[in-house]
Amino acid sequence: MKAIGLTIIPIKEDTMITISLDIGGARLKSALVENGLVRESAIVPMDSSNGLLASLPILEAEVLRLSSIQMPAMLGIAFPGLVNPVEKTVASANGKYTDAVGFAFEEWAMQTFGLPLIMENDANAALLGELAYGCAKNCDNAVMAILGTGIGTAAMIEGKLLRGKHFQAGCLGGHFAIRSLSEGRDCTCGSRGCAEAYGSSWALTQLAKESPDFATSGLAKAASINFRSLAKWDAQNDELAIRIMNQCIDAWSACAVNLVHAYDPDLLILSGGVIHCGARITEPIRKAVAKYAWTPWGTVGVLIAKKPEHSVLLGLHKLCVSETEGE
Ligand SMILES: [Zn+2]
Repeated sequence: MKAIGLTIIPIKEDTMITISLDIGGARLKSALVENGLVRESAIVPMDSSNGLLASLPILEAEVLRLSSIQMPAMLGIAFPGLVNPVEKTVASANGKYTDAVGFAFEEWAMQTFGLPLIMENDANAALLGELAYGCAKNCDNAVMAILGTGIGTAAMIEGKLLRGKHFQAGCLGGHFAIRSLSEGRDCTCGSRGCAEAYGSSWALTQLAKESPDFATSGLAKAASINFRSLAKWDAQNDELAIRIMNQCIDAWSACAVNLVHAYDPDLLILSGGVIHCGARITEPIRKAVAKYAWTPWGTVGVLIAKKPEHSVLLGLHKLCVSETEGE
């Protein structure tokens, strides 16, 4: 276990303490959050191929460990799939923790810990976290794109998180088509030509290995082809790495313009593992949004998440606060 933050704050009577669990494909992030501040957090390895039910002891150990520091009022869980926040269930898992679909999370939380539960899609939670405690406080119209393993998106319109009848509005920006259905690359969602099929870590290996110059590229020497190795060889002027990085940036830029056209935001917030590449990625996206998005009222601001490691955890806390206050 690797501790990623510890801030000691005096306990006050009007304090709101919650526990957040952010379920990822390879790790669980957990945090004890008090009035919008992360008091204690950790990252614990998890493996989505084992399924969720086999991983429940990992979740339970973290909740009990954090509860022993300070008893929380509520528990929040973020899941990397389509979530029904009303019934507190997973509606669709797209390959990760498929046995989570139909699992009674609310009953489990109450029976195991005696805690009420909120659940949310991870990108939705990240957007809420950044708007409540991060880079865009007081913004009521914003979209988010989390670039990395896949492309997670979320949208807030007029102060309300966009969910839709089937809880998939706003979440599926990574599956906006940026190529035609007849010619686009196959995507994990079942469609073709999605932004994710051109700009996600799962697509990188295919994109690299099918290139005729792969054998002579530095990428052929990498232990695994991911955004870390791509950025390394891109910075060393490796032709294939530069070409694939530019293709990813083009996919993210198209996705960003689509998000603006779909949801009419003032701000686009970028987050995810690849934003560590800095201006190499963010500046072309910023320029594409300014040049190509149809926004006669002005220009959509492009911001970097202020707390990319904690925004999901803080967003879950915000949902708990809102539920308690009856918002
Ligand atoms: Zn797709």
